[in-house]
Amino acid sequence: PALDNAPAIVVGSGYGGAVAALRLGQAGIRTIVLEMGRLWNSAGPDGKVFCSTTAPDHRSTWFRTRTEAPLATFLWLDLVNKDISPYPGVLDRVRFAHMSVYCGRGVGGGSLVNGGMAVTPLKSYFAEQFPTVDADEMYSTYYPRARSQLGVNPIDPAWFEATDWYRFSRVSRKHAERTGLRTTFVPNVYDFGHMQREEAGTAPKSALAAELLYGNNHGKRSLDKTYLAAAVGTGNVTIHTLERVSAIRLGEGGTYVVQTQRIDNAGNVVETKEYGCGYLFLGGGSVGTTELLLRARETGALPDLDASVGTGWGTNGNVMLGRANHLWDTVGAHQSTVPVMGIDDWANTANPVFAEIAPLPMGLEHWVSLYLAITKNQERATFSYSGGSLALSWTAAQSAVSSAMAKKLFDRINRANATIYRYDLFGGNRAFADDFTYHPLGGCVLGRATDDYGRVKGYSKLYVTDGSLVPGSLGVNPFVTITALAERTMARVLVEDTAP
Ligand code: FAD
Repeated sequence: PALDNAPAIVVGSGYGGAVAALRLGQAGIRTIVLEMGRLWNSAGPDGKVFCSTTAPDHRSTWFRTRTEAPLATFLWLDLVNKDISPYPGVLDRVRFAHMSVYCGRGVGGGSLVNGGMAVTPLKSYFAEQFPTVDADEMYSTYYPRARSQLGVNPIDPAWFEATDWYRFSRVSRKHAERTGLRTTFVPNVYDFGHMQREEAGTAPKSALAAELLYGNNHGKRSLDKTYLAAAVGTGNVTIHTLERVSAIRLGEGGTYVVQTQRIDNAGNVVETKEYGCGYLFLGGGSVGTTELLLRARETGALPDLDASVGTGWGTNGNVMLGRANHLWDTVGAHQSTVPVMGIDDWANTANPVFAEIAPLPMGLEHWVSLYLAITKNQERATFSYSGGSLALSWTAAQSAVSSAMAKKLFDRINRANATIYRYDLFGGNRAFADDFTYHPLGGCVLGRATDDYGRVKGYSKLYVTDGSLVPGSLGVNPFVTITALAERTMARVLVEDTAP
């Protein structure tokens, strides 16, 4: 195949990839971004770019014949998932033996599908997770830079108290307060001004029309509208879509060769290509980047990669659960899909948990309070690559650590409110869904597989900028931290590594 050259290549267009692309473009470096998903900018026959969570179609899921929503059932009935035709849909569920990882596919990566919660962790916990990073500099420079470029905004507290659409959050807050627990507002990248206009009927509905998880048609500042739009606007950045990087290796004179497979909407490989570049930035996410590096190490393409590549992976302690409320505690048929509040019990050293109050918009009253708990699970797993496939050592017992921590907290909440768990939501009569994560972290941990700035050990001009740098746990939702760390890497690399 022909070798297409660019000074810099970025793999993936999630947070890590988007930051790299923008800062390279601004530095005048011609850059190609290679993204396996599609560009989500053209409407289907229904006039919409994305489908809703309540009526998912082929656009929802990455090459499946049936959707694979996290919340699989309601009243034990298989009402949620739908048969679909295979297509490069926006949400993927990557299944390993005992753990599924949800991730976004498309220009914008996880920002297309996620809840938009833009949380900065406690400085003390950040410092514990990243002992070699200057926390003062992160909190004075890189976190603020990330938040402003991402378009993070707070909800108007007065509107929150008044609107029907957040009754579900207020009910959960009341139950937390009755337990003696603290709740906190969580900022978001969804434009709350737009959401208020949705309620007023002066803007098209998205968060108030059950959109999220499979994309938002309005209101959300996903990366394609922020970092990536700015990157392309520099005139130096080109994004190639439906192009999956399959291998990387060394080229001549310290360059890299990146091999890709271009696919069509049916998933057929229509072209195999090779690119040459001087600088290679990996932003394929925790699973995507770790897989590429492991494949390169195990096949001998990049044999000097550190032994720690593939290690230090965790789920950010994710567990999902639902509680059944009393009949008088209605959560509302109207629910915004954008979460804005969390129960913050992270300071409880005996059982640190931060639990997001999650919506369950079904268009009817269901008396369910749903949560995504982030627990301080210290368990870590290792990826391995052999025979062309990636495996993950995570076990059910490691997940049980997360659900036991969530149970401790929510048993207290149930006791204080005389309520019980819901067993009908996740299949298998379980109260806790601990077999999937929204927050895959690690695999190429900062300061172990890379230096303290994401430069991959053993090679030069090869960088990791995504969630694989985070050592398995953050205590809060991760994308602001991933963005801020990528900003820190780019600031350093553009000064030190690109001098002529
Ligand atoms: P990603 O955003 O995953 O981007 C990686 C990109 O690289 C993807 O577009 C992928 O298609 C592409 N890619 C991967 N491999 C290849 C390859 N070989 N070739 C070409 N392209 C490739 N976090 C929060 O902070 N707040 C939230 O509210 C929140 N809610 C979430 C809800 C859901 C349903 C999910 C799934 C996640 C949520 N997250 C949330 C997590 C957050 O989205 C991720 O932490 C974040 O997207 C990770 O960023 P990243 O840069 O590491 O990789």
